[in-house]
Amino acid sequence: MYETLKSVQQEYVFSGATKSSSFRKQQLTKLREMLTQHEDDLLKAVNKDLNKQKTEAFMTELGNVYQEISHAIDSLDEWMEPIKVKTPVSHTGSKSYILSEPYGSVLIIAPWNYPIQLTFSPLVGALAAGNCAVIKPSELTPHTSSAIAAAVRATFPQELVTVVEGDAKTAEALLDQPFDYIFFTGSVAVGKIVMRKAAEHLTPHTLELGGKSPAIVTEDAKLDLAAKRIAWGKFTNAGQTCIAPDYVLVDENVYKKFMKKLQDHAYSMFSDRTKNGTYTQIVNEKHYDRLYQYLGNGSVALGGQYSREDRLISPTILTDVEWDAPIMQEEIFGPILPIFTYKTSAEALMRVRSLPNPLALYVFSEKEQTQQLFTEQLSFGGGCINDTIMHVANPYLPFGGKGPSGIGAYHGYESFRTFSHQKGMLKQTTKFDMPLRYKQGKLANKMIRNVFK
Ligand code: NAD
Repeated sequence: MYETLKSVQQEYVFSGATKSSSFRKQQLTKLREMLTQHEDDLLKAVNKDLNKQKTEAFMTELGNVYQEISHAIDSLDEWMEPIKVKTPVSHTGSKSYILSEPYGSVLIIAPWNYPIQLTFSPLVGALAAGNCAVIKPSELTPHTSSAIAAAVRATFPQELVTVVEGDAKTAEALLDQPFDYIFFTGSVAVGKIVMRKAAEHLTPHTLELGGKSPAIVTEDAKLDLAAKRIAWGKFTNAGQTCIAPDYVLVDENVYKKFMKKLQDHAYSMFSDRTKNGTYTQIVNEKHYDRLYQYLGNGSVALGGQYSREDRLISPTILTDVEWDAPIMQEEIFGPILPIFTYKTSAEALMRVRSLPNPLALYVFSEKEQTQQLFTEQLSFGGGCINDTIMHVANPYLPFGGKGPSGIGAYHGYESFRTFSHQKGMLKQTTKFDMPLRYKQGKLANKMIRNVFK
């Protein structure tokens, strides 16, 4: 069944129907209209699945996608232009350029934590690059998944965009097909399965994974702002954000001051929402139970309230956590924030390096030298200086991880590049034919060496 789906889409791309910029812009416009028309249904569905409230859901689920669509429509003609590049003297007479072509039928596998954004944001790139797409949303947010399927069904023909709902088995069956590109967002464990499956058909792929993203608060940081921005970045969406600060490393000289401010900001931003039932839920019991275990991994400095029935854990700050505690062995992905102190920058660097490459890194410092120290000496996907999360919403920045936190990147032009195969082209002159390459012997040997060295 999936073979037919994929083949029909491949034929559609190979027919040339998706080639022109006007067709691509039309599809992006349709996508924008679809989201506008179905906005209420989508927001209601994500509320049912995760108790996400309208304002937050709009900002974090749809805002980015609208922005990506507008940016792609405005930039598409420029992106599609052949890119002229230089030609070395060894190729005298010829011109070189890069042509972008669609891959064909793209498989997009999405997670549950931002189920709307992480389905449609990759789709923007896929359509902008002239591909067709099969989308597999997460089964853990079933209302959103079926709202996405209904919206897409009402808008796009199957040969261009289609949604297949289902769980891991469905995803694996889809991955058995030789799609032309795989775009996966999800966990490291499943990312490895996807990569193995991609290897079977040598399918190019992007993996958007997760990891333990640190926030480093240095002695010279503006502590109040750092605390506010960390509290917001961590506890929004109940910490179920791939780039949420996973833990904080704070200079021991400002630890007390920072902690007070962090507690105050987290409390004032989220305590009412926890009490009045408008705080985002943990996605399911399995994740709730995993997070509940972490509450015992340190001393609770804020929060610590929980209800399994409501799948709710209040924004919680933990201190006195051991580095080898279970909470530090994997991405937390929930509203629990462990705080550690450090004495020297070298110690902070060592701590971050002792864990796999994170998806994001946040440095809070007023000194350029300190900012550079952490951003240049540490390896990570992307990040912010004096903020959290906001880099994800800038379409001019590539977004992705490195190694264990992901392979490849997208957003804005990077999405277009990701979903396009780039053909390196050499256009040779026929006005003359440089004889050198056909020659043998001493003189030719010398001349060839001169040209290349
Ligand atoms: P997940 O890996 O469990 O599931 C993601 C998708 O993969 C779902 O659609 C699921 O049905 C599918 N899937 C599950 N098992 C599969 C299998 N065996 N073969 C093929 N597909 C399978 O991830 P999740 O729990 O939905 O999402 C949370 C994870 O995603 C976190 O680790 C988070 O950091 C990461 N994430 C990363 C980004 C990013 O942009 N880098 C964004 C959001 C979430």
